[in-house]
Amino acid sequence: MGEGRVLIVGAGPSGLFQAFQLGLLGIRASLVDTLAQIGGQCSALYADKPIYDIPGIVRIHGAELGDRLWAQCSVFDPELRLATAVESIDGDVDQGFEVGLSDGSRCAFGAVVVAGGVGAFAPRRLRIEEAAHWEGHQIRYELPASWLGELAGRHLVVSGAGERGLAALAQLLELPEACAPAAIRLIHRSPEVQASAVQWEAMRRAIEAGRLSLHHGTIVGLHAADANAQRLEALSVKLRAPESLDEVIRVAADRLVVCHGLSPRLSPLLYAGMGLRHGQIPVDASRMESSRKGIFVVGDLGYYPGKQKLLVCGFHEAVLAAYAACDYLFPGKKIPMQYTTTSPRLRAKLDAFHAG
Ligand SMILES: Cc1cc2nc3c(=O)[nH]c(=O)nc-3n(C[C@H](O)[C@H](O)[C@H](O)COP(=O)(O)OP(=O)(O)OC[C@H]3O[C@@H](n4cnc5c(N)ncnc54)[C@H](O)[C@@H]3O)c2cc1C
Repeated sequence: MGEGRVLIVGAGPSGLFQAFQLGLLGIRASLVDTLAQIGGQCSALYADKPIYDIPGIVRIHGAELGDRLWAQCSVFDPELRLATAVESIDGDVDQGFEVGLSDGSRCAFGAVVVAGGVGAFAPRRLRIEEAAHWEGHQIRYELPASWLGELAGRHLVVSGAGERGLAALAQLLELPEACAPAAIRLIHRSPEVQASAVQWEAMRRAIEAGRLSLHHGTIVGLHAADANAQRLEALSVKLRAPESLDEVIRVAADRLVVCHGLSPRLSPLLYAGMGLRHGQIPVDASRMESSRKGIFVVGDLGYYPGKQKLLVCGFHEAVLAAYAACDYLFPGKKIPMQYTTTSPRLRAKLDAFHAG
């Protein structure tokens, strides 16, 4: 990260296209997102659903749009930090901005574009008080790679059968026998598990082999193996199927992966002084600049009369913000608009990248 660069808060569709637009103007961007993946709402909320209103693209799934936007901006080699939150933006456009990240680092930037959408996405936490004893250790909100080599003989529970829960389960079922857990349980709240044919086949085989069991219910209790709550040993699960009469069962669990979806959180502290109101920040629509000079807001988080929370609006706003940021990064320099089709400078870069 560095002073001549622009920080983009959020690697959703607006942030990714912002990195491309800045790149066209010769500005390198650093993208930071709390999620472990790119794409914002498109990949977090509707990865496998179709979008029909991107100009020139008849139909595209949310996840694919994120992937394509990343491929498009990659030509300009933006820095990407995932699973990291932007926690503070200090300074001003004259002295430079100093940005604080959740990993404790502080970085300097010449300008900031906030493409934070409806807020920073974070996993929904287990609503059981005792969970705090084991969060980060025996309880995780995604399957950590570090667990994969140490699960042999363990009792593992995945709670949540949405896309992320099923993806975690698929990884577990693929483990070679020597590393596989003694038992895997999938706890699902909805009556139906919406798995693909391939996932169902893997689950059917594991159930037949006695390695996997499915429970329609919710976790209602966590039980420690010892008085000091050093080690999680078991869970109480309230079964939901109508015939179970609200039966509560106890299941062994020394590892728990909770995949209860993601929820967005807007940090009023981060946007202090920018007039955050009803989840949006007012901007000058001609350059997408907030009331803090040098901090631009694009996508769902920005507000101006007539604003629509649509993907195409965020893409348009990214163009305006990129040109406006040049006022601060190249003071006094006139930046002409150039077509990617005919600019020799841009063609040289883009053609070489796409030929490779
Ligand atoms: C179910 C659904 C269907 C939709 N369908 C369509 C459609 O068909 N057509 C259409 O045009 N629009 C559609 N939309 C709207 C569209 O998804 C949004 O307009 C678009 O995602 C906004 O993009 P964005 O980049 O501004 O924000 P987001 O997609 O919300 O991305 C913002 C990113 O910023 C990150 N972030 C926020 N704060 C921080 C922080 N402090 N630190 C680090 N990272 C941070 C978040 O984690 C997130 O990843 C749909 C929305 C939903 C929910």
